[in-house]
Amino acid sequence: MEDLTHYIDGQRVKGTSGRFADVMNPATGEVQARVPLATTAELNAAVEKAAAAQVAWGATNPQRRARVMMKFGALINEHMDELAELVSREHGKTLPDGRGDVQRGLEVVEVCMGGPAMLKGEFTDNGGPGIDLYSMRQPLGVVAGITPFNFPAMIPLWKMAPALTCGNAMILKPSERCPSTALRLAELLKEAGLPDGVLQVVNGDKEAVDAILDHETVQAVGFVGSTPIAQYIYGRACSNGKRAQCFGGAKNHMIVMPDADMDKAADALVGAGYGAAGERCMAVSVAVPVGEETADALVEKLVPRIEKLKVGPYTAGEDVDYGPVITKQAEERIRGLIDSGVQQGAELVVDGRDFTLQGYENGYFVGPSLFDRVTPEMDIYKEEIFGPVLSQVRAGSYEEALKLTMDNPYGNGTAIFTADGDTARDFAHRVNVGMVGINFPIPVPLSYHTFGGWKKSAFGDLNQYGPDAFRFYTKTKTVTARWFSGIKEGGEFNFKAME
Ligand code: NAD
Repeated sequence: MEDLTHYIDGQRVKGTSGRFADVMNPATGEVQARVPLATTAELNAAVEKAAAAQVAWGATNPQRRARVMMKFGALINEHMDELAELVSREHGKTLPDGRGDVQRGLEVVEVCMGGPAMLKGEFTDNGGPGIDLYSMRQPLGVVAGITPFNFPAMIPLWKMAPALTCGNAMILKPSERCPSTALRLAELLKEAGLPDGVLQVVNGDKEAVDAILDHETVQAVGFVGSTPIAQYIYGRACSNGKRAQCFGGAKNHMIVMPDADMDKAADALVGAGYGAAGERCMAVSVAVPVGEETADALVEKLVPRIEKLKVGPYTAGEDVDYGPVITKQAEERIRGLIDSGVQQGAELVVDGRDFTLQGYENGYFVGPSLFDRVTPEMDIYKEEIFGPVLSQVRAGSYEEALKLTMDNPYGNGTAIFTADGDTARDFAHRVNVGMVGINFPIPVPLSYHTFGGWKKSAFGDLNQYGPDAFRFYTKTKTVTARWFSGIKEGGEFNFKAME
């Protein structure tokens, strides 16, 4: 069994707290590594060293910082298979999905290669007599990223790439369930030329997080995880005077109109509902067909597709559709929610509770489940299940489907499947959700746009990556400059004797 470390000042460093968390292999239920959980003192020491390293890094010209991102991007590509394997080994997702996790993070690194263009300031010529104004974007200093288990490569990359490109130092606190990818990314960044101390990976739990939130040198906190923790971190970071953007959970609805291509809608629902075992913040967990006929047709299309899904460990090869869920507790919670759906009167059309995999009896596998006739009062509708469970809520009309989506407390992503441009346009315009797909089930925007939910899916302002990230990780300084008339008026050019 491997003992993992922190990554401090350019090297792997053992923890000193004596506290560890087990890193499980979700496919077998075995402990595969232990990750050290940092004390407040260890966190504080990492912050102090980061603050010292940030001074020279912040003064390095933006193009040189961008060159580190260019080399980093090349190294990520070179190590793609190794990184995907690290992701899959601890998270359990399939290898193609592991590669997708790395790829969607890499795309943010690629935008950062052009970071200097995003960091350019503004200039007003002749804002008054002899007066010019200019504004510059300067790094904040030391910032922190606190990331969830479900994208061990992508979300750390969404945090570190823009923060470092802007000239900050970063304390990254990855999920204690999947910490290895972040440690490896830190090594690749060093190889790409990042000076030691500019990225410190501190592993830990609540103690390390609270130490980040209370450390007065830490200027900004970027968090991704569940809604209750997002709200807690946002509150504590803000009351300590920090910038905070905290992204939370989701319950994403996909509306299927009667005119939609039902095969395409069913394919989309199966991929977005069960991919990564439903452990994506942009997973579609609620299908909302409009009209009884649409609902019946959709169930008919979904069932054979769901029954064909292959569930297995990532080591079983590329034809596995999804893997185990992250922990035993997650597995039990998901099974408990399915039980509650049955008790509360939903129709369990496909039951994944009895699924077992020969040779992996101790793994955290849950078969795919489909519920029909779910209503908003049921726990399976109210809770973010974060498992391979799709709930169908039947709506009588488009307006009813829209209202259901809008009344939901979460607002991360949503989608509509329709052949009618006017309905699609109306939906995109009116719905109170941050990311909208039209005939597109998981509308994660490309890396030069931005990513962020509304309502209980995000606290704070500015989205992740894209132009917003360059705003979040810099502060604006504006200079108003007046130069009184100089030598061009009244200068003397003739040769004179000294007076
Ligand atoms: P989580 O909230 O349990 O953990 C996230 C991070 O917070 C981890 O680093 C963890 O160590 C830390 N943490 C956990 N409990 C804490 C506490 N009491 N005090 C301080 N820190 C604490 O989330 P998770 O289970 O790792 O991730 C799944 C959740 O993340 C889901 O709700 C999912 O929807 C959400 N998510 C959201 C987005 C988004 O962009 N909105 C993206 C991915 C995941």
